[in-house]
Amino acid sequence: MNSSGNATSKTKTPTAAGEWVKKIVILEARGLVGGNAKFVKGIFAAESRLQKGLGIDASRGGLFRKAMDYTNPRLVRALVGKSGDTIAWLEEKGMQFDWIPPLYPGQDPLVFHFHKTPEETGPKFVQAFEQRCADSGINIFLKTRAQSLLTDNKGKIAGILAENKDKERKITAKTVIIATVGFAGNQALLKRYLPSYVENEIHRAGIPHNGDGIRMAEKIGAATEGLDVLEMNGPAAFPLSSALSPVVKHPKTVWMNKKGMRFTDEALPLFPESANRLYHQPGRISYTIFIGNAFSAMFKQKRLTLTEAEKGLSIFKGIPIRYIDPDFVKALKLSKQANIYAYDAYFLDCAIRYKAPLLTLDRKLIASALNFNVETLEV
Ligand SMILES: Cc1cc2nc3c(=O)[nH]c(=O)nc-3n(C[C@H](O)[C@H](O)[C@H](O)COP(=O)(O)OP(=O)(O)OC[C@H]3O[C@@H](n4cnc5c(N)ncnc54)[C@H](O)[C@@H]3O)c2cc1C
Repeated sequence: MNSSGNATSKTKTPTAAGEWVKKIVILEARGLVGGNAKFVKGIFAAESRLQKGLGIDASRGGLFRKAMDYTNPRLVRALVGKSGDTIAWLEEKGMQFDWIPPLYPGQDPLVFHFHKTPEETGPKFVQAFEQRCADSGINIFLKTRAQSLLTDNKGKIAGILAENKDKERKITAKTVIIATVGFAGNQALLKRYLPSYVENEIHRAGIPHNGDGIRMAEKIGAATEGLDVLEMNGPAAFPLSSALSPVVKHPKTVWMNKKGMRFTDEALPLFPESANRLYHQPGRISYTIFIGNAFSAMFKQKRLTLTEAEKGLSIFKGIPIRYIDPDFVKALKLSKQANIYAYDAYFLDCAIRYKAPLLTLDRKLIASALNFNVETLEV
């Protein structure tokens, strides 16, 4: 997580006494600071005072190793390494962290630091940064949108062109820090970097940023990395309901796609992992099945005892799931040959390659499978 990020310009100016002091200005496009940080309830940290006090073994080295493959390892190390100090600094500024609940069932180690009133974690965090700026004489220009980066004749950064109340402002600076985050609100950039994104299939949370910083940096030749990555969480209730969503993604339910197929292990520890599996299902739709209701209906019909229901549940949960990548070239060939959707062809391709029977209720897929001598099962 970042501070009240936006475009920050830093210059050095000499004082009357001849000493050099840093001069920093912060540009904020909106009328208030904080961006999405105001929604934050929990803050990640390793080796904080609270973790040590609670006997939580959340070592920086261990957490770095867990996360180093997700993105640039240097960034991960810097973030993890400084996280405990950030919490200590916020505590100095008056924040009171006294709770580290699990972010998902079974999380180990616990790292998600809540302020004593969780709704205040984000606002208090932003307030601390605002105060720090005021104490250090750093100006924050509100309603001032950075438009483009200025460069000198050698191509080096020379400042920013910004807009405030329809007027253009030029700020000269040797260093510009861009913290305008992603582009969830920019359809053109979404189409360019994430052609698979479909607006109505995903709930969007937070402020829909325009990707201004990415656009500006690209324009002067910056390298780009990881722009095709969506930060996702799911499944969630549709239409969005914060009360229903935890029920919908409860690990003791069963999730089926539109075709009636279970597509993931509901107990995967991280919601982005299950959201990623859901992203690849038709229409990105998941139905949550409450097995308990099916069993209780059978109790009423006197067709099942409690012991049998418990056994049934443990057998179901024990079904091992192995994830296999389809061979996209072969699957596309199958899709053309059998006149079926590529999505169906992925399953057919896996069944052919692994000589495994296909479990499906889809009539068209059963017919195609038979044509390719693939055994099918119905339960
Ligand atoms: C609903 C929700 C809940 C979340 N909960 C958590 C949580 O519990 N824990 C956690 O760690 N993370 C959480 N996050 C993620 C967290 O909010 C973000 O990771 C964090 O806010 C990113 O900080 P940032 O400064 O990079 O971006 P932001 O906080 O989004 O700030 C970007 C700022 O840049 C400004 N800006 C954009 N373009 C320009 C421009 N051209 N010129 C000037 N200013 C510009 C914007 O107005 C904005 O103020 C949550 C996010 C959401 C949406």
